[in-house]
Amino acid sequence: MIQIDGSFGEGGGQILRSSIALAMVTGSPVRIEKIRAGRSKPGLMRQHLTAVQAATKICNARVSGDAIGSTQVTFEPGQVAGGDYTFGIGTAGSTTLVLQTIMLPLLCADRPSRITLDGGTHNPFAPPFDFLERAYLPLVNRMGPSVRATLERPGFFPAGGGRIVIEIEPAPMLQGFELLERGELRRRHARAAIANLSPSIGDREIGVIARRLGWEPTELAIDVVSDSRGPGNIVTLTLEYEHVTEVFTGFGEVKRSAEAVATHAVQACQRYQKHTAPVGEYLTDQLMLPMALAGNGAFASTGLSRHSETHIELIRRFLNTRIRAERHTADSTLITFSSGVT
Ligand code: AMP
Repeated sequence: MIQIDGSFGEGGGQILRSSIALAMVTGSPVRIEKIRAGRSKPGLMRQHLTAVQAATKICNARVSGDAIGSTQVTFEPGQVAGGDYTFGIGTAGSTTLVLQTIMLPLLCADRPSRITLDGGTHNPFAPPFDFLERAYLPLVNRMGPSVRATLERPGFFPAGGGRIVIEIEPAPMLQGFELLERGELRRRHARAAIANLSPSIGDREIGVIARRLGWEPTELAIDVVSDSRGPGNIVTLTLEYEHVTEVFTGFGEVKRSAEAVATHAVQACQRYQKHTAPVGEYLTDQLMLPMALAGNGAFASTGLSRHSETHIELIRRFLNTRIRAERHTADSTLITFSSGVT
């Protein structure tokens, strides 16, 4: 049984989610201890528990420690089976993070899957739906499978009530790719989404983006969302290049001004634009799992976050894939995946 210390490196939920995903694809039992020891409320929260339960269901695993607040989980995977699954988080916990846990094994499963996830769709500290759909999934689809995501209803923190549906056509195995350049910028656009709040918030956010980034009025949109259970506000900035799309997000919250929300997204976008590498901070840590499973390919990243460094260490515990991170150009890191340890 592989033993994982959940407090190492970044010490968050990703260690749990990726350990379970890797256990399923390798068939190796795993015990994760000190789960989320680095967080203010350690142990399993609703989102993590749903992720463990969803994983248990798709591979008929034997599991212990699957309870709220638990800091230790033992997971013995069975055979992964594609199919029609519905998982509800029961709070505004992030649906995209639950998906991070179960998607990888379903990409190479015996048959297609349709996964319905109820909970939050635009959560701070998690990939918002727009990032999943526009930035992450097109790269996963380049690896062989065909994954389509639909936002049926948005769910903002704290009310939740969102729903996403993911349809997966698996591939027998994943093929890595090379992504070293962005290519030409083809389109850029900003969206301020407002649910059950004053539309003037969107006006102020779009104003900040127009002033700070100089984007044209045709590239800016306010989206008044009518089917949200609770209030919510996010700003997304999308840069569509020839070879990659990146999405930068600002999340509205109580006592955070519209200007601060927009500025957060603008600054993330400007940091990326100062670099030349195609793969930004969040995409870097999230791409590691499918690329390592493919066992071949390379991408240039704007840099390694603590999440990424921790992810590399974790993946090494499960797979023989060699992951090398080295300086590529003055401002980028080349991450290379190859089979076998040399
Ligand atoms: P953890 O903090 O361990 O639960 O992991 C959070 C995950 O969410 C990581 O995979 C991050 O890359 C991802 N993430 C956090 N914020 C964003 C964001 N604004 N856009 C895209 N992904 C994000």
